[in-house]
Amino acid sequence: MARSNSLLSLAAASVALLCLTTGPLSFLVPQFCKQAQTTLLSPASASTQGFYANATLQNTLPLQPHWAIASALLAALATRKLNKVGRAAQAKKQKPLRDQVAPENADAVREDRKKGSKNVKGGSKMQRFFSVRNRKFWDFTVWPRTYFKRVWEKKDWMYAVIFGIIHAGAFMAPWYFSWDAFAVFFCGYVITGLGITLSYHRQLAHLSFKTPKVVEYILAYCGALAMQSHPINWVSSHRHHHGATDTANDVHSPKDGFWWSHAGWLLDQKGTWMRVDRSNVDDLSKQWYYRFLQKTYPLHAIVLPIVGLYCWGGLPYVLWGFFARVVWTWHVTWAVNSVSHVWGFQDWNTGDISMNNWLIGILAFGEGWHNNHHAFETSCRHGLKWWQVDQLQVEFVNDVTWYIIKLLETVGIASDLKYPTQAKMKKLSWDSDEAASAAIA
Ligand SMILES: [Zn+2]
Ligand SMILES: [Zn+2]
Repeated sequence: MARSNSLLSLAAASVALLCLTTGPLSFLVPQFCKQAQTTLLSPASASTQGFYANATLQNTLPLQPHWAIASALLAALATRKLNKVGRAAQAKKQKPLRDQVAPENADAVREDRKKGSKNVKGGSKMQRFFSVRNRKFWDFTVWPRTYFKRVWEKKDWMYAVIFGIIHAGAFMAPWYFSWDAFAVFFCGYVITGLGITLSYHRQLAHLSFKTPKVVEYILAYCGALAMQSHPINWVSSHRHHHGATDTANDVHSPKDGFWWSHAGWLLDQKGTWMRVDRSNVDDLSKQWYYRFLQKTYPLHAIVLPIVGLYCWGGLPYVLWGFFARVVWTWHVTWAVNSVSHVWGFQDWNTGDISMNNWLIGILAFGEGWHNNHHAFETSCRHGLKWWQVDQLQVEFVNDVTWYIIKLLETVGIASDLKYPTQAKMKKLSWDSDEAASAAIA
């Protein structure tokens, strides 16, 4: 099964690349090649001139079948290798990484930690900065996990190396700046960012609206390009987060440390038992498309974007369109888990420490209204009140994801949009009637 998927991805890589360069999509190539030559080989491009001065790319890059075949083979080999690594890891992982049982007493688990408890720096000051209308302030007490002196699984090392390489690539990007490379970065951020917020989060994890399957799959593919794992993995972790928000059974609560909730949890396979429990995502696991993305993930998230961007615009496009874009989108998404659980304000009595944060609201296309989201997790709209629309006098940066969902509904693509009920708003509001009537849905 795994082998056939590997071969399938190998074939897919080859066909895609050959179509692009020598086959039915060859009409695209002259543009790609012209762009690549301008970017890579133009004497005016000081940053790349030296790098490619002696390269033989001039003869081999455009429109050469052997170049296309070599790239296809390279892509296929990389995918095969990565799948092999994945299979070996899976075979090794016969026994669970950790007892599949939730710790009985959440607080005791945290309080037993060596580092003990401490208050989050900045506490109420940062909350004031990030709060447009405060309901509550307090200094957070957290029980940080041990980040470094612990058992590192092979997979932890692999993730750390991948994170390191991709961050290093992003740091190189400024030396290869051009406005068109930046435009590729920005478009990539919007497409893959919305892939995460609109598809992975609101449609797949919370089923807050419906679309025809083909649209759902295209949107999910945009999310897959963000390199935040395939939908089965992402949705499973996220549902676990909602199932036990900020308790010891949360996959990524800042109560286990700010950096833990930001990225530390991704580098610690043993840290939380929920990481290996996918029983909450059967609705996706039973669909061939999501299993296909799971088995062939590196092909879609790494190989095809890098090869495609290289063909299109050379190294600058790869550095901006892949490395910088992936890093930026990572940190924006991670900030929803860290910043939006520490600094902001709470409009709803959710019993956790989720916050509404205007800055993350803008950067993460509406996901920063995170207290609203934890209150009404199936709502397709996160920015709920009038002042969350025009507080900053810029209406369209509020809950961009919801605007897109609304647009999809208007043109007949999205349906069954879910909103908070008045009864639930009343139940969760701090001051009951007033808050409920101010909210719009
Ligand atoms: Zn959350
Ligand atoms: Zn959610």
